[in-house]
Amino acid sequence: MPKNAIVIGAGIVGLSTARALAEQGWQVTVYERSETAKGASIRNFGMIWPIGQKSGKQYERAMRTKSIWKQICQETGYWIEESGSLHLAKSEEEKVTMQELGEIFSKERPVHWISPVQIAQLSDAPRQDNLYGGLWSADEAIVESRLIIRDLPTYLQERYSIKFLFQHAITNVGTGFVHINNKRIDADLIFICNGADFETLYPAIFKKYFIKCKLQMMRLVEQPAKWRMGPSICGGLSLAHYKSFEIAPSLSLLKERLYEKYPDYFDYGIHVMVSQNHLGQLTIGDSHEYGDSIEPFDKSIVNELVLNYLKDLVNFRDWSVIQTWNGEYAKLSNGGTEFFYEAEPNVWIMNGFGGAGMTLALGTVEECCQQF
Ligand SMILES: Cc1cc2nc3c(=O)[nH]c(=O)nc-3n(C[C@H](O)[C@H](O)[C@H](O)COP(=O)(O)OP(=O)(O)OC[C@H]3O[C@@H](n4cnc5c(N)ncnc54)[C@H](O)[C@@H]3O)c2cc1C
Repeated sequence: MPKNAIVIGAGIVGLSTARALAEQGWQVTVYERSETAKGASIRNFGMIWPIGQKSGKQYERAMRTKSIWKQICQETGYWIEESGSLHLAKSEEEKVTMQELGEIFSKERPVHWISPVQIAQLSDAPRQDNLYGGLWSADEAIVESRLIIRDLPTYLQERYSIKFLFQHAITNVGTGFVHINNKRIDADLIFICNGADFETLYPAIFKKYFIKCKLQMMRLVEQPAKWRMGPSICGGLSLAHYKSFEIAPSLSLLKERLYEKYPDYFDYGIHVMVSQNHLGQLTIGDSHEYGDSIEPFDKSIVNELVLNYLKDLVNFRDWSVIQTWNGEYAKLSNGGTEFFYEAEPNVWIMNGFGGAGMTLALGTVEECCQQF
């Protein structure tokens, strides 16, 4: 008889955990409080973003995650685009740092510095004025997260016989059981994968290890005449955001320059990225507000700053904003990259991927679940 496991939450971490446990032979049931997942996993760019991951274990996990995404998309026909990514240099300092990164990364990844002419061959989105060149990476891919997170349960049910119970909010957890109000459900193993909401089940653990992070996002209208951007695009501000770029010797100097030039952007934790979905719509963000400074209200100034920065960087065909929203994730206060924690015997919390759940969860969780 296979043993029973319960997974709480049907975001990307819950879905990754359910898949990994089923691969290990567990009989898995996923409980999701909403009618479909509505958390961070449907609010993101859909970027699978290895370039943001440090070399070594994290990069390998990102690449394993990407290969699982590709396999799922091959089996199901879900949309995925291996778009690659392009960081554009708009100053001499950004150029120096990106050239260093191109040199270092090219030893182990399909990443290198390219000229403005080579950029124009990849995409006609980047503005050529003051363009010094860019950092090209072939590793990145895009999925349409709001569709794929909605549809993955059907795939997992058919492929692994995983059972999904939506509109079932878990109200209490202990070794060997979960509660839905007064109803007790028994299980041999329980995984808590409910994103930023795990503070309601384990408030003390949340407070000890995590802070919340809120991001603001926008979507632009489907671009006319089926125009495609090509690679996902970022600017120099992203160099200050991802830890993987810290290997560049000139980064600290660049950060000083960026801070002098863009103080408002640093105040709101803004770096600017854009991806394009299967419909031709553009997903744009983002800002980062942390902990107690998080307000429930979105700030129009943040969206203005993001759009202003982007207008310097690229030419789109239509800049009409059709949606704005925000999302929250739980971020490890010590800067860690995953939280795989036994809260009580056989009750595990799987969290802590921060801004990289789409990039890391499938591969990392598969690795963590090998012990069960
Ligand atoms: C705006 C934004 C942009 C991002 N962009 C990217 C990106 O492009 N690439 C990338 O790799 N990462 C990105 N991230 C990070 C990524 O989205 C997160 O790391 C990931 O979605 C976290 O997944 P999760 O399953 O832990 O949480 P969630 O997606 O929040 O899922 C948790 C689920 O648990 C359910 N739940 C909560 N409480 C209960 C309960 N008591 N009982 C039952 N169910 C419950 C919720 O309804 C929810 O569906 C972004 C995040 C945000 C917010």
